[in-house]
Amino acid sequence: MTHARTGGAGHPSPHGAQDAVPDAAVAPVGSVRRIARPRQRERPAPLYWAAMKHIGVLTSGGDAPGMNAGIRAVVRTAIHDRLRVSGIYRGYQGLIDDDIVELGPRSVANIIQRGGTILRTARCDAFLQPEGRAHAADALRKRGIDGLVVIGGDGSFRGAHRLHAEQGIPVVGIPATIDNDIYGTDVSIGFNTAINIALEAVDRLRDTAASHDRLFLVEVMGRDSGHIALHVGVAGGAEAILLPEDVVPADDVADMIVAAQDRGKSSSVVIVAEGAYEGGAMALQSAVKARCGYEVRTVILGHTQRGGSPTTRDRVLASRLGFHAVRALQLGAADVMVGIDQREVVRVPLADLERNTKDIDRELMELATILAI
Ligand code: ADP
Repeated sequence: MTHARTGGAGHPSPHGAQDAVPDAAVAPVGSVRRIARPRQRERPAPLYWAAMKHIGVLTSGGDAPGMNAGIRAVVRTAIHDRLRVSGIYRGYQGLIDDDIVELGPRSVANIIQRGGTILRTARCDAFLQPEGRAHAADALRKRGIDGLVVIGGDGSFRGAHRLHAEQGIPVVGIPATIDNDIYGTDVSIGFNTAINIALEAVDRLRDTAASHDRLFLVEVMGRDSGHIALHVGVAGGAEAILLPEDVVPADDVADMIVAAQDRGKSSSVVIVAEGAYEGGAMALQSAVKARCGYEVRTVILGHTQRGGSPTTRDRVLASRLGFHAVRALQLGAADVMVGIDQREVVRVPLADLERNTKDIDRELMELATILAI
């Protein structure tokens, strides 16, 4: 990917051009002192957009652990940078209903460790229509909100892109979905927590599978994408990993399991993404049961994968992206998502997200097959 790299963590200076002072070892910049870089490593100084005075933040679509850490980062970065910040409840629905509250640094105290979202989230049909989006933009203008941070998934970003295109509202998206299926970012908020929760369940099931010569089909979330299944499958040492991106006929799955028995395996765990089969893992169970010699059990992890305290990785990710989203708005960015490309924060046009899909890691899939011999 070749997306724009974002600037660093220094305080935004209204005198952008003075940001890098090459000749002094330590140069004063406003109230902040920073070490000057050698001339050859100078980067263009950021020009902060003085027009941005008040931003809004909302969470939309499916909830994901770490959204609260993202809200906290947005609110505190904004206040640190002397912006006003308002929280919008229940995603786009709250915009249309004008369910908006101004937040302070203490409004987001003690939430970094909590799953879900204190701003709540919703799916909003009215926002699918241009009239709904016009209504939402009016609510923002009425409150003097100049820019919006949207924490959500693909659908939320489609809405944000249209809000910007039709109404000129600057929007910056923060990717948050346990499915990790958003193009333009290596990882999204909530994915790491979800795979760890699912993996813990798989480890427990493996103990009982081994004790009883059983086959466990474990269904994990992922209607259209297999990122969760693939990571959990590799980390959990699965016999097979079944993904919506690469549907394997049920008979072939049964063949794989029988072959594993012939190689001396006495129990197996198969990870099934919910969208890998019509009817999910339960449908697969009936097809496989008749063919293999194990007792077959199906476990559907379902929404347990969404809840719980976010992992360190998700909290740090959400803190970084929340910070950079606010800085991006101040730099005049609009209609972009902040994401991660090989550990660096990048800005990706929201239009690119609509044109592209994120494939699963094919190398990881190949590796999983080799390691299951
Ligand atoms: P996620 O953001 O987790 O993918 P959804 O797909 O449910 O979740 O989208 C969340 C909300 O975003 C929807 O309820 C709707 O209000 C808005 N949205 C989704 N798709 C569009 C679209 N094509 N145009 C406008 N708004 C959309």
